[in-house]
Amino acid sequence: MITHQPLKTIFRSALTILVIFGISNNVSAQSTHTNPWEVTELGVLPPIASMTDGVWLKGELHVHSRHSKESSNNSIAKIIAFSKAVGIDYVCITDHDNHVNGDVAHNTWADPEFKSNDVLLLYGGEWTTTRGHGNVFSARPYDHQRLYDVRDQRDVVIGAVKKQLNIHLSANHPSGKDHFGYSYDMVNSIEVWNSAIWSKNANAIMIWDDMLSSGRKLTGRGGSDAHHGTPEGAEQPTKNTYQAKANYVGTPTTWVFATSKTSQAVVDALTNGRVSISSNPYAPRVEFYADINQDGKMDMMMGDNVKATGKPVKFRVQLSGKTVSDSTYTINVVKDGNPFGTYQAKGKQPVVEFTDTPALIGRTYYRVTVEGPSTPYPQVPLSEKLSGNMVGLSNPIFFNFDPNF
Ligand SMILES: [Zn+2]
Ligand SMILES: [Zn+2]
Repeated sequence: MITHQPLKTIFRSALTILVIFGISNNVSAQSTHTNPWEVTELGVLPPIASMTDGVWLKGELHVHSRHSKESSNNSIAKIIAFSKAVGIDYVCITDHDNHVNGDVAHNTWADPEFKSNDVLLLYGGEWTTTRGHGNVFSARPYDHQRLYDVRDQRDVVIGAVKKQLNIHLSANHPSGKDHFGYSYDMVNSIEVWNSAIWSKNANAIMIWDDMLSSGRKLTGRGGSDAHHGTPEGAEQPTKNTYQAKANYVGTPTTWVFATSKTSQAVVDALTNGRVSISSNPYAPRVEFYADINQDGKMDMMMGDNVKATGKPVKFRVQLSGKTVSDSTYTINVVKDGNPFGTYQAKGKQPVVEFTDTPALIGRTYYRVTVEGPSTPYPQVPLSEKLSGNMVGLSNPIFFNFDPNF
C-alpha cells in the first residue's frame, strides 16, 4: 500500500535530492539554463551572386549505362546522342559502383564513348551500398574507389573521405527501397524527384522539408534513374525495354543557373541551390525570386540566403519557356515545410507575386511547386502521363540559414 505523505514532506525530499546531487538548492535553477546552441542573430552572410551573369542549363543527374549490370541497350554513346537530340546540356552517368568493385574510373569514365563536344559530362557514379544509394557529382575525375572502400564504415569516417575527395554527394531516392541511410550532414543535395512517376516522390519531399527545417541547406534535384534504352541495330529488346518510352533521360530535368557553361559551374550551381526541376526538357522552367527591399528589382533567387530585415519581402514565381498559353498554372508556396498559399497564373509568361515578412531571428525558407497542363515529350511519350500535372518545382529561398552550420 502506498503511504500518502504530506505535500510539504515530498517537497523537502525533492530539495534534498537536488542538494545531494549537487544540482542546486535554488529552485529557479532550471530557468537560468542557457542553451549554447540557441538561435541568435547571424553575422554577415556572403553576398548574393550575380543575378544576370550566368546561363540556364538543363540536365540529367541519374542514369545508368551498360556498365551497370542490370541496364539494357543503353550504351554511353546512346545516352549522349539522345541527350544532345533533346537539348540536354549536361549529364552525369551514374553507374552502380558495386558492379565494378568501386572502379568507375576504369569502366564508365574509361569507356571510349565517354566524350562529347556538345553535352557536358560530369564525373560520377551511384554509390551503391547496404545502407542505400547516393550519387557523386564532380567536374573532374576523383578517386571513387576510396568512397567505395569506406561504404560500411561509420558516417564520421565516410564524411571525412568525402571531404578529402572534394566531391558533391547527393542522397538518392531518400524514401523506399535502397533509401539513403546515412547522415544528411555529409550530403549537398537530395533527389526529391526520382523518375517520371512524380506521385512516388511525396515522402522524398517530406524528408527534404524536414532536413531544410533542421537548418540543413540541401539542394533538391531530379534524376530519371533510367536503366534501359531503345534497341538499335542488332540489339535485342528485353522485358524492360518498354521503360525507355516511359522513363528516360530528362524525366525529370534538373535546371541550374550556372556562372558559365562548364562542368565545374554546373556542380557549383547544384551545391549553391540555384536549381529547379521540370517534368521534362520541354516543360516550362520554374524561376523563383525575391525583392528584399521592395524597390521593384529582384535581389535574390532560389538557393540564395540572406539575413531577414524584419520588413516585408516581395516574392516572384515565373515560368519560362514553352508554356501552354491559354492554361492556368497552380502555384503552391511552402513556407518552412507548411502550406503558405496557393495562387493561379495564366498567360504566355505566367507570373505570380506574393509578400511575406520572414522572421527577424531564426530560419525561414520558401519554396514553390507548380502544377498545370503537362508538356508532351515525343521521344519519351509515356512519361507525360506518369508525371501528370506536375510541371516543376523550385529550390528554396532562404533567410537566416547559418552557412557555417
Ligand atoms: Zn539507386
Ligand atoms: Zn540508380
